Amino acid sequence: MEMDALSLSYEEWKMFVTDVLKEPRFRADQICGWVYAKKVFEANSMTNLSKPLRDKLMNESFIKTPIQVGEKKSKDGTRKFLWQMEDGERVESVLMNHGGHTTACVSSQAGCPLACAFCATGQAGYARNLTTGEILGQFLTMERRLGQDINNIVFMGMGEPLLNEANVLNVVRSLNHEKMRNLGARHITISTSGIAPGIRYLADFDVPLRLSVSLHAPNDALRSRLMPVNKQYPLASLVEAMRYYKNRTGERITIEYVMMDGVNDDPQLAFEMAALLDGLGVYVNIIPYNPPLTAPPGAPTFARSSEAKIKAFCAALSDLSIEFEIRREKGADIAAACGQLAARGR
Ligand code: SAH
Ligand code: SF4
Repeated sequence: MEMDALSLSYEEWKMFVTDVLKEPRFRADQICGWVYAKKVFEANSMTNLSKPLRDKLMNESFIKTPIQVGEKKSKDGTRKFLWQMEDGERVESVLMNHGGHTTACVSSQAGCPLACAFCATGQAGYARNLTTGEILGQFLTMERRLGQDINNIVFMGMGEPLLNEANVLNVVRSLNHEKMRNLGARHITISTSGIAPGIRYLADFDVPLRLSVSLHAPNDALRSRLMPVNKQYPLASLVEAMRYYKNRTGERITIEYVMMDGVNDDPQLAFEMAALLDGLGVYVNIIPYNPPLTAPPGAPTFARSSEAKIKAFCAALSDLSIEFEIRREKGADIAAACGQLAARGR
């Protein structure tokens, strides 16, 4: 039987164990312990299972993880993994280190359909959503390679997580479930380009994960030019969804703002942003623009704002009492920084 075991929820594991394997329910806990806690994917190595059960699991073509077809290591310790899926599609994940903590940045789609002008992923086109197992597989395989648990996961790799909401939230549930990976909700972050209905959905979701919104411009004219998704969900609808999220969860939303020279770095825009987001109590992440290593012909070109301009913009934020941080890129030398992931199959 072909099955995508990594896509199973805890409840589905229990049903699989009792209905298909005809085993007692506690076997589900044992198997989940092997897969999610110990990163053991081969049924043969699950030594607390009986030999007949292990054989049965082997016949079920058990855990399939993405095949690793490349790895690059940055001088700052960041590692970039290239994965190949069963149909040949390729995606990348990034593993970062900061002060003894590790963060995995995973992809939710092969490519991205939203085509933001400044993003290498968006400029490289789109193939499909990744399955729950393909997303979880990136994370668990990195943990296995690392030989230890990763502290945080961010959905900031290739793709728009809220366009693959069902699978991404399955991943979140499995990571968070105490009988599975048992990763705290505070260690899980979804970044969205502003899919308003998805943000509302997250506001009512049972796992209180963290939310980042990629704003990049505080008015519709500029934002629609940079991010075509803004035409579908203009700022009024996005901000309304963010207010709903804030009211429902009480959680602080992080705003991501990529600084592009002469495009969105005028301090005047900081004032516009403050007015737009008034009362939301956001935290702003300023991301100096990362250029793609190779751009498709005809793709728009951008440059990183100068340090002086970034400083001036941040000074305006300070004056407005908006908390911010400048996110220094990690792994730019191996094209692993924000917006640089462009691996594609075919
Ligand atoms: N699709 C989601 C998550 C993936 S992108 C989103 O857009 O939020 C992760 C972050 O990288 C986003 O904030 C995105 O705007 C940013 N990004 C994209 N291209 C970039 C670039 N060239 N330089 C710096 N950040 C970039
Ligand atoms: Fe897609 Fe995010 Fe890149 Fe925009 S920035 S193209 S939404 S991955």
